[in-house]
Amino acid sequence: MSPVTVITGGSRGIGAATARRLAHAGHHVAFSYRRDRAAADKVLAELHATGVRAVAVPADTRDPDQVTALFDAAADLGPVTGLVNNAGVTSPIGPFVDLDPDDLRHVVDVNLVGYVLAAQQAARRMSTGGAIVSVSSVAATLGSPGEYVHYAAVKAATDTLTVGLAKELAPRGIRVNAVAPGIIRTEIHALSGQPDRPDRAAARIPLGRPGEPDEVAAAIAWLLGPDASYTTGTVLRVGGGL
Ligand code: NAP
Repeated sequence: MSPVTVITGGSRGIGAATARRLAHAGHHVAFSYRRDRAAADKVLAELHATGVRAVAVPADTRDPDQVTALFDAAADLGPVTGLVNNAGVTSPIGPFVDLDPDDLRHVVDVNLVGYVLAAQQAARRMSTGGAIVSVSSVAATLGSPGEYVHYAAVKAATDTLTVGLAKELAPRGIRVNAVAPGIIRTEIHALSGQPDRPDRAAARIPLGRPGEPDEVAAAIAWLLGPDASYTTGTVLRVGGGL
């Protein structure tokens, strides 16, 4: 039976690349987006073109009812076997002392509360085992000084969530892992006020360039798939050496 995978934030960036890669590998895909319906429709058409079943659901991952609705839509494709916890936001880049409390709450709500809510739905519904992959960041161990330390701290929470859930869910045949991307070429940098950040950072990345979304998607697909059958509780760094 084909895997059925839920991806949060599949309309752009790493989530969209993951949706495309999984569809090519035969996964049926249910993905969420928050506001960019046009981008979601474009990805959805690409998924359908591969012949898999797919659905795009407007669901804000901060809201438990909307997360439930996303998983209900996924269940129409078949029993859910995978979750990619990806929907994430940063804040305007700047010194810690200038952090706006509303930006702090937004980062915590999307990147932590949203991940927990989606993982909870997945754990409740994966009755015959499955796999969860959460998108963390190299920020979790580097700390992002001068940029967004609070975001880095929340990504560290993703890593801890991964370690704990892997142990709690292992007896039920559910593997739980994370990927920690470095600086990847997506729109997230423009949203934090620095669209050219990936190119400016190239000189300090050991491999000499930012990553592409599909290079992260490849790691996510591996962790979700049968070749990672003995891998759980790990955080796989995809950072070009960062
Ligand atoms: P992106 O291009 O900005 O895409 C973010 C996606 O998340 C979009 O599909 C967006 O949907 C969705 N989203 C945002 N808030 C949401 C919410 N509250 N509910 C549901 N969906 C929501 O970001 P990205 O760079 O691909 O980042 C994906 C993940 O990778 C994030 O967790 C990020 O922290 C992590 N990461 C990124 C980098 C990097 O350099 N790009 C590095 C390390 C880690 P709409 O457009 O419809 O709002």
